[in-house]
Amino acid sequence: MRVLALDVGGTKFTVAGFADERLVLRESRSTDRAGGPVALFAEVERIFRLWREEGFHPDCCGIGFGGPVDFPTQTVTLSTHVEGWVQYPLATNLNQLTGAPVLMDNDANVGALGEAKYGAGRGADPLFYMTLSTGIGGGIVHRGEIYRGADSYAGEIGHLNIEPDGPACLCGSRGCYERMCCGLWLERDYGKPALELLKDELFVRRYVVHLARGLKAALMLLNPARIVIGGGISKAGDRLFVPLREEFNRQMTAWSRARRDVVPAQLQDDSVLYGCLALANLKLL
Ligand SMILES: [Zn+2]
Repeated sequence: MRVLALDVGGTKFTVAGFADERLVLRESRSTDRAGGPVALFAEVERIFRLWREEGFHPDCCGIGFGGPVDFPTQTVTLSTHVEGWVQYPLATNLNQLTGAPVLMDNDANVGALGEAKYGAGRGADPLFYMTLSTGIGGGIVHRGEIYRGADSYAGEIGHLNIEPDGPACLCGSRGCYERMCCGLWLERDYGKPALELLKDELFVRRYVVHLARGLKAALMLLNPARIVIGGGISKAGDRLFVPLREEFNRQMTAWSRARRDVVPAQLQDDSVLYGCLALANLKLL
């Protein structure tokens, strides 16, 4: 079985091809902000046509989109990072281009499914996955499926108020989890990329106080078998995860016996691509 995977993020997008669950083709490009969805799709089309000439014909396609997706209607609601995406028919266009069925969801949900099925979340159900990157997103996998809630908005942990009197967030609220902990704001607030900042032990100790608050909310609400953290910032490894686990244990409610199993994503940059594969497999069932 062949699957075309498309991961559309805030700063870059990746197209990948899977053959029998093996990643065999992969191309990444920076997102052309000014060009919006039309420029992005034209690039996807160029890449796909080349692959098709070389004999790659997908049976199904999966899309992980960096913003809210209305799952029942398979439409992009908007992009929180790039203009011009409101109601853009991404799934329909990919279906017309490839002739194959398409299933789309937001990238945190898709990343959660990827880690649950192929990565650090294997054997851990329910799973809470969080992407700690340009922004912060969350996804819940229960009994092997994404839990989306009534309106496709479940798992949006990024705008939980971690510091109610904190700085203003782009969403109009204050001290959101994303505002305090995501890569975009760390760089704006401190003038350095997140992974640079996390080399400083003192900085890490302050950072994990905010980071653990969000995890505590997820744990108290969901009691997941495991929490997997993906996205660029999770690549800091033990430098981040050891102090984070300590702080998380310190903050947790004493009587709670809920397990506190927090690990980095295993598929690294490819959680969403593998999630697209899992999503496409579900479509073909
Ligand atoms: Zn916010």
